[in-house]
Amino acid sequence: MKNIECKIVSKKKYYSHQKISMKFEIINNTGQDVYIYKWGTPLEGIMTDCLTVKNSKGKKIEYDGLFIYREKPDKKAFLFLKNGKKSINEIEISGAYNVSSGNKYSVECNSRNIMVFSAVDMKIDDFKKRKMPSSLKTVIENTPAVFEVVKKGKKKQTIGENFRKEEKNKFAKKKSDRGLESVKEPTFEGGTDEQHEITLRAHRIALDFCENVLLNFANDELYNIWFGAHTDSRFQLVKSNFTKIKEGLEQTQFNYYMTGQNCIAGMVAVTYKGATQIGLCDLFWERSDEERAAALLHEHSHASAWTLDYVYGSESCEQLAIDRPDDAIKNADNYEFYVEDTQIPA
Ligand SMILES: [Zn+2]
Repeated sequence: MKNIECKIVSKKKYYSHQKISMKFEIINNTGQDVYIYKWGTPLEGIMTDCLTVKNSKGKKIEYDGLFIYREKPDKKAFLFLKNGKKSINEIEISGAYNVSSGNKYSVECNSRNIMVFSAVDMKIDDFKKRKMPSSLKTVIENTPAVFEVVKKGKKKQTIGENFRKEEKNKFAKKKSDRGLESVKEPTFEGGTDEQHEITLRAHRIALDFCENVLLNFANDELYNIWFGAHTDSRFQLVKSNFTKIKEGLEQTQFNYYMTGQNCIAGMVAVTYKGATQIGLCDLFWERSDEERAAALLHEHSHASAWTLDYVYGSESCEQLAIDRPDDAIKNADNYEFYVEDTQIPA
């Protein structure tokens, strides 16, 4: 059968104090040589919510790893796979999914993220500026893994849990040092004075954007484009998320670090759910003030409203709003595009 096979191969049993690692295998049975887009898939390790992990009751384990924001894929974003060949890489899932509570789990690849392109038609340049060429219509055959985690010693924490704990300690200290103020200016780590100024400006513009959005928030054309068909509960959730983002920008002590930590090539910024730390990477500086503000808003939506990255890019986000509005209202880039469309004059 012509298909792409995605297979997770795990051990049967793990212990909760250890890293839980397994293998991801992707096999090309399409009858031709292909390129596979690595971003958003386990082909690059667990950099995104690329797996569906469920416990024995069928409950989905929420992603709690890094949220990375990037653009302009280059050749390295693709895996070339000859017909009939297989690629295998190691994935560590305990850093991104909380699977340490003594249970049975199943894990499979999110097949909707797998994009396959004919090696003959592929023009990598088309991918620049987030423009996607049409992909090959392939059947993705998913083979999940099932494993058991036995409780032992101190539980392995996810990246999100670790950072939030660290920050809680830091924040508790800061509070007593500084007293309580209602408006908190962000702090900076690494970077130049100029970069601090640029970031402070973007932070303030992002706050302005949020205030304007909330003042004029309505069930109108732009709302429908980015958040899909109107229902009262979805509308209220988006509004409440914008309120959380605004309050975060205003009242939470955020730290922007420019040390390069957690940054990889092609990245704009990085954060995680519930964060007070946002990392700024190389491509952040290539944007205009307003584009930087919109990017910060994307990051703050993860940090303060716990949004996810289901899809990136305007076309995919518009399609998400049509097909799956319940996911669109939780997708960080949909917030960013809504803000760009309503707040940045064309
Ligand atoms: Zn994101």
